[in-house]
Amino acid sequence: MTAPTTVTPAVRYRNEVHFFTADDGTPLTLIHVRGESEPAKGPVLLVHGAGMRAEMFRPPGVRSIVDELVAAGWDVWMLNWRGSLDLDPLPWTLDDVAGHDIPSAVREVVARTGAGSVKIVAHCQGAAASSMAAVAGLIPEVDVVVASGASLHPVLPRATKAKLHVLRRVLHHRSPYIDVAWGDGPERGVALLTRNAVRLWHTECRNPGCNMASFALGSGHPALWKHENLTDATHDWLRTEFGKIPFSFYAQLAASDRAGQFVAVHPANGLPRRFADAPPKTDARFALFAGAESRAFLPEAQKATFDHLERHHPGRNALHVIPGYRYTDLFIGKRAHVDVFPLMLAELER
Ligand SMILES: [Zn+2]
Repeated sequence: MTAPTTVTPAVRYRNEVHFFTADDGTPLTLIHVRGESEPAKGPVLLVHGAGMRAEMFRPPGVRSIVDELVAAGWDVWMLNWRGSLDLDPLPWTLDDVAGHDIPSAVREVVARTGAGSVKIVAHCQGAAASSMAAVAGLIPEVDVVVASGASLHPVLPRATKAKLHVLRRVLHHRSPYIDVAWGDGPERGVALLTRNAVRLWHTECRNPGCNMASFALGSGHPALWKHENLTDATHDWLRTEFGKIPFSFYAQLAASDRAGQFVAVHPANGLPRRFADAPPKTDARFALFAGAESRAFLPEAQKATFDHLERHHPGRNALHVIPGYRYTDLFIGKRAHVDVFPLMLAELER
């Protein structure tokens, strides 16, 4: 960790918060980021990862993907889907997010902008859900999906598989959620035991949020970023940027791991049981990103989805495996504006 290499640009943003409901009645929000001038290009929907919120796309003190998109003239909409820590917690599955939240958010953006198409930039389970919605044919308005970290195939480190299939069965009787914020609070019982065990295991730093995020979402020291990729300010900020992740999701991830691809828990409403068996029901192009050193999903996960998509539409899609990065640092890294965002913006323009 070192000092920031850049400072936040002097652009002033206005954040318009739009409250709306998914088509099953779940309340969600969209943050429409307005720059100093009207956007020249169409809407880009940013979809956050599991246990995080829309604000993950703009850490303090670094040049963010939001800065880059607004500067390039894109119309930026940040979604808080039902797993956001800015919303009331509920035990979601990817079926809910892919079947309800993403399609409803896309329709909301189309209705509010009048745009003929929408592009998605998504991370982690937001990227998996967006990919699932796209291949199920639920978001025909979307013509590009930039999916970071995960899409249709979970390929997990061995230690994550052990946690997912063994430890999950022990913990889920005691709480409906793993809460990354257990790292900070005055918990008792299973929360305190988990937190203390995690802190003993993760000696790489003394940031409890960083330790718990490694425990909850991967296997590594740390799992989701390399410390040298973050500024001290971003590392501190992460303490409050993670929240609850429900066991309902972990159960689906365990079933998906056994199936070798993401599967629906309750296939209905247009969702298939398995997402990577049939040809994709979409004309959208996928640009898949992975950190070469990811310890959440391994980079082989994105390679598997790329191979599946290319079998059906050769030459349409792209795969970027970024050296020197793990997972969330593709968005919150201090040099992401140099190493990652130009590639993502080029994919939006292609
Ligand atoms: Zn740390």
